[in-house]
Amino acid sequence: MNVFSHPEFDNHEHLSFFCDPETGLKAIVAIHNTSRGPALGGCRMFPYTTDEQALRDVLRLSKGMTYKSALANLDLGGGKSVIIGDPRKEKSEALLEAMGKHLEGLGGQYIAAEDSGTSVPDLKVMGRHTQHVAGIAERIGFDGQPSNGDPSPATAYGTFIGLKAAVRHKLGRDDLSGLKVAIQGIGNVGFRLARHLKEAGAQLWVYDIFAENMQRAVDELGAKPASAEDILYLPVDVVAPCAMGAVLNDDSIPQLKAKVVAGAANNLLERADHDQALKDRGILYAPDFAINAGGIIDVFYERTGATPETVRAHVDAIGDTLTEIFTRSDRSGRPTGAIANELAEERFRKHEARGNANPERLARVG
Ligand code: NAD
Repeated sequence: MNVFSHPEFDNHEHLSFFCDPETGLKAIVAIHNTSRGPALGGCRMFPYTTDEQALRDVLRLSKGMTYKSALANLDLGGGKSVIIGDPRKEKSEALLEAMGKHLEGLGGQYIAAEDSGTSVPDLKVMGRHTQHVAGIAERIGFDGQPSNGDPSPATAYGTFIGLKAAVRHKLGRDDLSGLKVAIQGIGNVGFRLARHLKEAGAQLWVYDIFAENMQRAVDELGAKPASAEDILYLPVDVVAPCAMGAVLNDDSIPQLKAKVVAGAANNLLERADHDQALKDRGILYAPDFAINAGGIIDVFYERTGATPETVRAHVDAIGDTLTEIFTRSDRSGRPTGAIANELAEERFRKHEARGNANPERLARVG
C-alpha cells in the first residue's frame, strides 16, 4: 500500500495509524492542511474490506474538509479519521476510549466530530480521555433553540440560504412563494430544509426510501409525494438532493428539468467533469461543500462559545460565498464546482503563505 505516492495523498501534513489489539481498535487519522487552524472533521466507523480502502477514504475526506472549512472562512484546517470495523458489531466503549486516548496524543492538531458509524454518545465516550472532540455540547443553538450538538439544523438552514442565493442568481427572484422544489432524502437535513422552504411559501415534492420520512413531510408540510424514479426529473425550479452522493452523473444530468441544483448531500458530482456538464445544460449547480457548510460552522463555534447571533451571521454568509462563486463562474465561463475549489484554495493558501496556524487561533478552538 503506497502512502506518499498514493493518488489521493495530495501533500497531507500528517497521517497516524492507531492499533490497540486489546480493544480491536484499528484507525487512521489524516490531517490534510492546518494552515487556517486545527483540523476538524468527522470520525467515521465502517467495515472497510481492505486497509487501502480505508486509507483512500480518509485521505479523500480529509482533503475535502480543508476545502469546506476554508471556503466557509473558518479558522480550521481539514482532517478526518476512520475506524476500521462494523459499528453494529465491533464498536465498544473500550474501543472508543482507546480512540480518545490516541486523539489526545495528537495534542489538538485534529478534532473529531460524529460521522457515519459514530454518534454524539460515542464522541462523548472518546471525550473521557481527550478534549479534542466536537459536536457534543448542549447549548443554545444558532436559531435560539436548545441544541445537543447535532449540526443538522445549521446545515439545513445554510442549505436554505444557499438555495435562495442560487434562485436569486439564476431565476432573478427573492420571493420564494410558489417556487417549485423537489427534495430527495427527507432525513435530518432534508426535513428541516423542507420546513424552511414551506415557511417561505415554496411548493414541495419529496421522496425518501423510508415511506414514513416522506409521509411526515406530506402530513406536516403539505408536500407532494414523488417516486424514486421521478424525484430528480420533475418539472420544478430547484432540485435539492439531500440523501446521498454521485446523483449528478451521465445518466441523470441530461434528464434534469430544474434550472438549479442546490442540496446538502456530499459529493453530489459523480465525476469532476459533471460540473461542466451541468453548466453546458444551463443548470446552476451550488457546489455541495459550499452550501452544506452550516454544520461545520456550528461545530466550530461550539468550541469558541460564540453567541447564537454570531453563528447565524456566519451561516448566512454561505449565501455571499455562493454568490461570489456564481458571479466568478459567469465572468470566467468556468463551472461553479471548479470556481469553488479555486476560491477555497485561495483561502487556505493565503494562510499557508503567512506561515502555519498561529498559536492564538489554535488555543481558541483547540
Ligand atoms: P440522514 O441519514 O438523516 O438523512 C438521509 C435521508 O435520505 C434518510 O431519510 C434516508 O432514508 C434517505 N435516503 C437514503 N437513500 C435514499 C435514496 N436513494 N433516495 C431517497 N432518499 C434516500 O442524513 P442527513 O444528516 O440528513 O444528511 C443528508 C446528506 O447531507 C448526507 O449526504 C450528508 O452527508 C450530508 N450532510 C449532512 C450534514 C449534517 O449536518 N447532517 C452536513 C453536511 C452534509
